[in-house]
Order: sequence, then structure tokens, then C-alpha cells
Amino acid sequence: MALQRLRVLIVGCGLSGSAIRHFLAEKGALSRFDLHFWESSDRLGGRFATSYFTDQESGRVAFTDTAAQYLTRFTEDFGFVFDRLEEDRVLIRIPNAHHVIEGMKAEHHALKHYVPPRGYQSVVEHFLTHSYGESASASSAPAKVNLSRRLISLTPSMTDHTVAVVGHESSGNEIRDTFDAVVLTTPVPITKEILSRTNLLHSKVQNWSPDTVDNTVESFLSGTGSYSQRYAFSAFYRLNKHSAIALNSHIANNNGIMVKYDFEDDMIRFVSIENYKQGYGLPLDHESSKVKEFTEGDVMSILLHSSIPYAIDKQQQQTCSSDGTSITNTQQLERVVQEFLNKIHAKYFPFLHKEGHHSFSADKAVLNFWDISQITRPTHSILPTGNHLALLSPNQEGNQVKIILGGDYMRGSNFENCLHVAKGISDRLLSM
Ligand SMILES: Cc1cc2nc3c(=O)[nH]c(=O)nc-3n(C[C@H](O)[C@H](O)[C@H](O)COP(=O)(O)OP(=O)(O)OC[C@H]3O[C@@H](n4cnc5c(N)ncnc54)[C@H](O)[C@@H]3O)c2cc1C
Repeated sequence: MALQRLRVLIVGCGLSGSAIRHFLAEKGALSRFDLHFWESSDRLGGRFATSYFTDQESGRVAFTDTAAQYLTRFTEDFGFVFDRLEEDRVLIRIPNAHHVIEGMKAEHHALKHYVPPRGYQSVVEHFLTHSYGESASASSAPAKVNLSRRLISLTPSMTDHTVAVVGHESSGNEIRDTFDAVVLTTPVPITKEILSRTNLLHSKVQNWSPDTVDNTVESFLSGTGSYSQRYAFSAFYRLNKHSAIALNSHIANNNGIMVKYDFEDDMIRFVSIENYKQGYGLPLDHESSKVKEFTEGDVMSILLHSSIPYAIDKQQQQTCSSDGTSITNTQQLERVVQEFLNKIHAKYFPFLHKEGHHSFSADKAVLNFWDISQITRPTHSILPTGNHLALLSPNQEGNQVKIILGGDYMRGSNFENCLHVAKGISDRLLSM
């Protein structure tokens, strides 16, 4: 008789959520689960976010990664994941990363650095679709992903040990469903909001023994730090003959540097010619000193990250009004966009400014605000070693844990940390 598959809802299609499926697939265990993903936004990736631009004339696609920039392999813990992703060309190693990225922190433990040649969203897409360790059968089919579906609340049943959930779709539909287990990979403020709707903030965290008697999830989550905030600005330029030559000389004159941290500027902290992720500006092969150059018709993609103080200052201006309510001021946003374009045209890449044009413009420009950027202090410090997830016990016995919390806030905002969290959650699901 076929075994009943565990019906699991994973909330959030970012790195942590998608990597849970990856680890189950690695174990050849997908057929034991009926996995469902709910994602509130209309795209995959979360903070593994990519902005795309298709040039109408040539059909060429360019991209910028608006949040995560490069992935560092600090340990061999997940060497097999990096190696697989490299084999499948989902990630490429940056040769001589310190020569390509100016101002990169000298991380003594860093073994290698990687970037995705098709953008970070493609890493999440890969985690959601590949089936290592499983035969290509219906049981290892891609995950069931619902975009634009927001989890609103969850209610554990004390009798049959299932969890009832309510979601809203952007179309206005309300969704009600029941799962054997629910995993929240949402950032802390959102997780708190969801749990508070059904009074679950007072549930116990089963795998946490604090010094005080208070081991509620509310107390557990209050141990985490805040999230930093940043603007990310993407600008795409179709190169003509003149600007392609100027860009190649700019890179050569800067000793091949494609990316830099700017610690002198009040507004900008990070500048990247994103095309290096597709090999532009890098040596054509190991032996050659010749680099892949830009030519007419290529699209140059630029990414700027603002400094944190600039983002906070602009957001305060944006949301302050005389009566204290929040407002969205489009004129203010337009001014921010012009300030970013001004930096590109007047400071970093003056050759992109077209003679005779009074205002600065790009073929496409996108402004993102990362309200929830990177966690300042993870919960790791308050968890016993080896635990990178929180198991909620809505009842006293606590032996029927069906709600699991995990996300980058458990260990810190980077790739390896999210893999640790996802691996811990997949192991827990396997033990159910
Ligand atoms: C500006 C910036 C730069 C960074 N640079 C780097 C870097 O260089 N290297 C590196 O390794 N890391 C970097 N990071 C950190 C890295 O991007 C994150 O740690 C990682 O992407 C977090 O993944 P996650 O899945 O835990 O969370 P998220 O990516 O936030 O995923 C959570 C998902 O849940 C969804 N969601 C939220 N609420 C709901 C709901 N109610 N219902 C359904 N879905 C919901 C969200 O839309 C999101 O997709 C950077 C992050 C930022 C913002």
C-alpha cells in the first residue's frame, strides 16, 4: 500500500524556502512529501531578487541583482551545493574576486566567491525545479508554487494535529486549506504579524531553553536584531559604438575593476557593472589576458546600492506629513531617481551622458527600496548550537510540532547561513 505523503506548506519562495526542497531532493525524499509554496509577491526569489530588461531592438536580455550580490563559500559544509550549482552553470566562480571587486572585505575564512550568470532569481528557480537524487518521475515533479498568495493566519488543530491556514490572493480570492505541517520562512516582523492573528505568539518554542521561564515565540523573536534598509537602483543602457569603446577603456583604465564599494560617498555605498556576471570585463580563458569586451548593441546594466543613512533619511522624508500619517510622495521618489542618475552620469560613468540632453536618463531605470534588508543580529546567539529553526508547540505536550519557523534571521543574512537553516528544516520534515 502506498504511504500517505505528508502535505507541507512552505511560506515564502526566497532562498530559505526553496533550499528546503533542494535538500529533500538531494536525499531522494521528494516522493514522501506533497510540497506547496505560497509566495506573497508576484515573483520568485525574495531577497534573491533580479530585475530584467529586454532590449526591443535586439531581443537581448540584461539583468541586475537588486539585493544579494556575491556568494561566499566560507566553509566546506555546503561544498557539494556550490559544486553542483557550478556544474549546472547556475553559479560561476569569480576569478580573482579581489581584483574584480574593489573594497571587498578581506574575509580570511572565505574560500571562494560566486555569482549567478542568469541572476539570483535563477538560483531559487533551480532549487524549486531540479530533482537530484530522484528519478525523473511524477513524484519528483517541480514544487507547487502559488505566486501572489499571502498567508494571513494559521490555526493548529488540537485534535487531528493538522494546521488550518487562510491566505489572500492579489485577485481578491480568499484561500482556506489544511496541511500536515507549515514552515514559515518569512522575515521576523511578518512572522510576528501572522502568528499574532491567532494568538500563537504565546506558544512555546519547543527546542529553546532560555535562562528565564519565558520560552514563548514572542520572547524568542524579540532576541533578534533589526533589519538594515537600503535603496537599490538599476539602470540599463543600450550601448552605441562610442559608449561601448568608452566603457571598455573605463574598465581597462580601472585595472579590470567592475564593482566597487564607495566608502567616501554619503549617498552611494556600492556600484556594480552587473555584466561581469556574464563574463564581460573578465579574461576569456585561464591563459589569456584578453578580456570579453562590450560591443555596439550590448546592454550595460548598472546597480547602485545606497548607504543606509541615505535610505533612512529619504524614507523619513517620504513618510512624514504634518498629521503624522504615511504618505507616498511621487515627486520625492522622482527626485531620488534623479539623484541616482546624477551619480551615474556625473560621477561614475560620465560617458553615458548624451550631449545636448539636459536631464539624465537611461533606457530603463528601476528604484527598489529594501525595507527588510539584512539582519543586524541573528537569533543564533540565543539558540543551542546546531539548532537553526524554531519548533512551535501550541499545546502542552509539544510532541506534535507542526509549525516550524526559519529564515535568514536564524543565523545571519548570507547564502551559507540560509542553507544551514533550510537543511535543519528538511531534516526535521524527514523525521515526521
Ligand atoms: C541589499 C541586500 C544585499 C545583500 N547582499 C548579500 C550578498 O552579497 N551575499 C549574500 O549571501 N547575501 C546577501 N544578502 C542577504 C540575502 O539576500 C538574504 O539573506 C536571503 O536572500 C534571505 O532569504 P530568505 O528566504 O530567508 O528570506 P526572503 O528572501 O526575504 O524570503 C521570504 C519570502 O517570503 C515572502 N513572504 C513574505 N510574507 C509572506 C506571506 N505572508 N505569505 C507568503 N509569502 C510571504 C517574501 O515575499 C519573500 O519572497 C543581501 C540582502 C540585501 C537585501
